[in-house]
Order: sequence, then structure tokens, then C-alpha cells
Amino acid sequence: MSRRRQIYEGKAKILYEGPEPGTLIQYFKDDATAFNAQKRGTINGKGVINNRISEYVFTRLAHIGIPTHFIRRLNMREQLVRQVEIIPIEVVVRNVAAGSISKRLGIPEGEPLPHTLIEYYYKDDALGDPMVAEEHIACFGWANNEEMHDISSMAIRINDFLSGMFAAVGIRLIDFKLEFGRIWDGDYARVILADEISPDGCRLWDITTNEKLDKDRFRRDLGGEEEAYQEVARRLGLLDNEGGPSEVLDLGAHRKLRTKK
Ligand code: C5P
Repeated sequence: MSRRRQIYEGKAKILYEGPEPGTLIQYFKDDATAFNAQKRGTINGKGVINNRISEYVFTRLAHIGIPTHFIRRLNMREQLVRQVEIIPIEVVVRNVAAGSISKRLGIPEGEPLPHTLIEYYYKDDALGDPMVAEEHIACFGWANNEEMHDISSMAIRINDFLSGMFAAVGIRLIDFKLEFGRIWDGDYARVILADEISPDGCRLWDITTNEKLDKDRFRRDLGGEEEAYQEVARRLGLLDNEGGPSEVLDLGAHRKLRTKK
């Protein structure tokens, strides 16, 4: 393949120029980082699995009307996405106490929260992504009120949908992180879901054993991170019997198979 122009390299992904204006190629790496990149490692095959899981989740979300940057998966590690102007806010949705909220407020991990919480963090590695209030977001103009309204209502909808989707395969959605971006149509900007949704940015616990099936296995040196990511993909029906990625639902191929019989 000819050399493509690299636009950006993040901790877990690389963005390349896409084939058409307004598109990018999102490449999923096996690199894993935690604690603002103070801990670094690799999870073998993570990029392949996250590409597949994120494709599946974004496709399902598009079906319920959430606008997303995802266009299509290109191969094992790459997907074609719409280029957005990233909003510099990490949106964290929490259903159950874990991680930083447990540390900060002394709530035992695993305690269900009285209601779903949305938190905002300013995306700045040098500052360690500090938590900010909506007032900071408005004050510094990172997003306007209308955009924040769209972001919070999409976050709640995504949470409701994903909680059900994961519960159906025996997984509790404890918390997760979302990123949004703007796409411009003349003077008018629309907010769409960007980045990825995968076990890198979600806490996913087995519904009966509370076993962690996410990046906390890496963060906390629990081991078995490859198997945990694979287990999430397997439960979502994304691995074929040989263990490699398969199509979610290729109706065309399915029909062909049926007509051959
Ligand atoms: O660390 P904390 O408890 O605040 O993380 C909340 C959720 O957001 C977790 O699911 C974590 O994986 C995700 N997160 C993330 N990227 C960050 C911070 C948090 O994906 N930079």
C-alpha cells in the first residue's frame, strides 16, 4: 500500500489521511497505556479486537439514531471514519462506582450509584486530563450550551442502549468514556460521536462473578488482558469458531449460503 500521510498518533491509535476529503483512516494499535502514559505495554491482538468491537458498537448505535464518525471497517486494524473537529472533552458516564470516583470520594468499588453520573474531563495530557464542570466548558468556549445539551442527551441514550446490549451477554457496564467531534456544514456545526468504544475505555464486569473484562486487567497487573478482550468480542458474537474475527451479519453472504442449500 502506498504511504499515507499521518495526521496524528495517539496512545492506542493512529489517524491517517483518508481516501476522500473529510475522511480519515483510524488504525488500532496493540499499545496500551495507563495513568496518563506512565505505564506502557502491549496487549497482543488488542487493536484487531478493538477495531471489531468498536465497529459493532458504532453500527448498533447508528441503528438507534446516534450520529457517529464511523463509515466502515477497512481491514483487521483500520476503519474509515469522518474527519471531525474534536471537542476537547472526555465524557465519562458512570453507573457503578469504580476507578477514580471511588478513589476521589471514598465510594467502595462495585457500589451502584444512586443515578447515572456524567463527568467531564478536559483533554490535556500535560495537565493529566483534569475534571472540569460544565461552567468551565462554557467559560473557555470548549463547547457551547446547545452542543453540551446534545452531548449529554446522546451520552444518556448511549448508556441506556449499551447497558442493555452488554447485559444481554452477561456483562455489567460499570462506566465508559466517550468523545465527540463537530462536523461543519457551511456555518452550521453538528456534534457526532467520535473515537472508539472498546474495553480500553469501558469498565466491563462479568454479571455474575464481577470478573473484570477490560483495561483494568492491564492497569492493575491482573494478567489475562488478551483473553478478557477476546471474551467480550466472543460474547458479542464477533469471533468465529476458530477465534478469528468474523462478520457481524453479512446478509448477502447469508442469503447466498441459503440459496446454495
Ligand atoms: O479512571 P476513571 O475511573 O475516571 O475512568 C472512568 C472510565 O473512563 C473508565 O471506563 C476508563 O476506562 C475510561 N477512561 C478512558 N480514558 C481516560 C480516562 C478514563 O477511557 N483518559
